[in-house]
Amino acid sequence: MKLFIPGPVDVRQEVLDAMRQPQMSHRSKDISLLQARIEENLQKLFFTKNTVLLSSSSGTGAMEMALRSLTVKKAAVFSCGAFGDRFHEIALYNGIDVDYYRFEDGKPIDMNVFEEALKKGVYDTITITHNETSTGVMNDLKALSRIYKKYPEVMVIVDTVSSFGGVKISVDDLQIDVCVASTQKALGVPPGLAVMSVSDKAVKRFNEIGYRGFYLDLKRVYERHVKSHQYPSTPNTAVMHALDCQLHYIVHVEGIENRFKRHQALAKYTRDWVKKHFDFFAEAGYRSDTITSVKNTKGFDLDKVKQALKEKGYVFSQGYGKHKQTAFRIPHMADRTLDELKAYLKEIESL
Ligand code: PMP
Repeated sequence: MKLFIPGPVDVRQEVLDAMRQPQMSHRSKDISLLQARIEENLQKLFFTKNTVLLSSSSGTGAMEMALRSLTVKKAAVFSCGAFGDRFHEIALYNGIDVDYYRFEDGKPIDMNVFEEALKKGVYDTITITHNETSTGVMNDLKALSRIYKKYPEVMVIVDTVSSFGGVKISVDDLQIDVCVASTQKALGVPPGLAVMSVSDKAVKRFNEIGYRGFYLDLKRVYERHVKSHQYPSTPNTAVMHALDCQLHYIVHVEGIENRFKRHQALAKYTRDWVKKHFDFFAEAGYRSDTITSVKNTKGFDLDKVKQALKEKGYVFSQGYGKHKQTAFRIPHMADRTLDELKAYLKEIESL
């Protein structure tokens, strides 16, 4: 089956094979070298000099780690969909004082609301979802950063779970304090790890917080990494091998900029196809380079579409939550080729 869902994605055979290596001690020199090599390549992909950590959880674990380890006073969550909402839930479940700014599905974070919220001066941490996978909206981080850079005391946590590895995210230029991503999306690696860049400012902040949890304590994970390039408990070594192999491919074989260009070409092809056959769910100017969300203007029964495509060897992605019948999503991320995408869209046309 070809996975046309926004993660987990299809993974290259070489990357799958990398997971078949013999087990290793999580306290060995070899694992330190492996983790250090992964960090070095992730720094290139995050365009940062900041420390880059691994979390042996999916992206949600790293989101929780960041929010609970950085908020002293109050957080503001800026959400334009289900994954932005997740930060709000994380705050509530952790007893974090939080305000929740919610924008309509299909629309980006509103710059005026964002600026007015920060002007209040009551937040010490904010969350932004770069690429809202549920709606196909990609927020404009550069424009948002022009606003939040005026408030250097505010910690900026950015979820790039479904864009990192496919879209350029310049952590240092954007001054992101914690940038979070998962392995199973645009990176093209199996699920089981999250990655996160951590600024010096964030390091100062987590030292001010008394209760950061245990397993998801950013300070513990950070300090162990800085000391020995190891993880405080037993990490997911199989996926570490896979990530190491894929990062080598991205950085040295495909090339980082080529990878971004390929994602742009896939997105353009998909948008042209949508223009011809349907309509867009996400607002113009904010359409993602890794996933396109489509309005079901033809009124197809999308459960039937899903079944029909399954018989042709594809896993189809309906709209998220309440949009299950009114929208569908076309992911174009990781190592997807233009030919594979074209073949898939042809199958949809033929239904
Ligand atoms: N944020 C976004 C934007 C996502 O797309 C997802 C997963 N679909 C998550 C967070 C949660 O990531 P994970 O499943 O790796 O915990």
